[in-house]
Amino acid sequence: MEVFTEGALYRNTIENLESAAKLISLNRNVMERLRYPRRAIVVSIPVRMDDNKVRIFPGYRVQHNQTLGPFKGGLRYHPHVNLSEVGALAVLMTFKNSLMGLPLGGAKGGVKVDPSSLSKTELEHLTRRFTTELGPFIGPDKDIPAPDVGTDSQIMAWMLDTYSMESGFSQTGVVTGKPVEIGGSRGRESATGLGVVYVADRALQVLGKNLNESSFAIQGFGKVGMHAAIEAYALGAKVEAVSDISGCLYKESGINIANLVRYVQENKVIQGFPEAEVISPEELLTLDVDVLAPCALDGVLNENNADQVRAKVIVEGANGPTNVAANQILHKKGCMVVPDILANGGGVVVSYFEWVQDIVWLFWTEEEVRSKLREIMFRAFDQVWEFSQKNNQDMRTAAMATSLLRLEKAMKLRGQAW
Ligand code: GLU
Repeated sequence: MEVFTEGALYRNTIENLESAAKLISLNRNVMERLRYPRRAIVVSIPVRMDDNKVRIFPGYRVQHNQTLGPFKGGLRYHPHVNLSEVGALAVLMTFKNSLMGLPLGGAKGGVKVDPSSLSKTELEHLTRRFTTELGPFIGPDKDIPAPDVGTDSQIMAWMLDTYSMESGFSQTGVVTGKPVEIGGSRGRESATGLGVVYVADRALQVLGKNLNESSFAIQGFGKVGMHAAIEAYALGAKVEAVSDISGCLYKESGINIANLVRYVQENKVIQGFPEAEVISPEELLTLDVDVLAPCALDGVLNENNADQVRAKVIVEGANGPTNVAANQILHKKGCMVVPDILANGGGVVVSYFEWVQDIVWLFWTEEEVRSKLREIMFRAFDQVWEFSQKNNQDMRTAAMATSLLRLEKAMKLRGQAW
């Protein structure tokens, strides 16, 4: 199993799992079963490129645990994708889905590719062939992929179409995060970002602060960060800084996010936006703000910079942005780190809503989606907060422990832990 443990994110995730397991005296056999994924599928994806040459891309799907229901989790297209990283993200999905109270297990997948280097046709061919290779292992009652870093609703639409062609009938429930026109849910695109702001709101409340008197710094202005910024701004918070791959913007009195979104729609990136000054991406992480939301990739908060962080609350929009060492440093400093499995759970919660809507063919309004999402995010935050207070633990250990307790109960009932 070194293929998994060779990656830092995997080792980090298991370390977090072990601390929580120790705290709740988790059944040893349960822990042993959760340490590694149930199944890992590795495929090679041949794609005829626009220049007629065939290129092979490695693709992965790791299915970690299905005690609570079908496997569920996103697919990532990124040049750094590897089996160990996808494995760690699959473990996190098991705990996220359990914590959010969903009847779903955990999985994750991806392709090692830079999607921005492919033409639209190449991307479509890659996605369709990947779907065919995963065909025997996915399905509405087996394993339901969704968007993640580098993938979007168009990619989900191609997957749905390929899977349906091969089944001989339309199977909308095979993926979530689809366009609304073909069975997607209203509010799915903004769900992760909204969830980030809902838990930030709750975290500020327990610290005696109001969201509309608080300041935010948001790393990443993509599917998660942009929607978090829009919602925080709409609720009256001051978004002092945002960043994306092109750079980082800062304005002490708060960036006008509505104007920035319009600018990004025209220019694709935040670089060149005239209403803010430019700072370095590292500076964003150490700004004196109430909430820091890392909404890009993993490992950005580590032993080298955690000491300089001045935010009161960190809300992990990304998966795995804080490593174990940084988590300890921040906790000691009195900074509340709301962990990924809680903070970015809004995405998979609305994926679950989408899956349910596809099963009954009855679709909800955006208002219904938002209010149900808010309720679930608040409930999950409150459970974790209560556990952390009662047991004097940081929020990550509390979230892992809360999630593990539910999973342990289910595994015992199913006879999976002797
Ligand atoms: N990729 C997202 C995550 O990491 C969403 C997964 C899903 O909707 O299945 O939570």
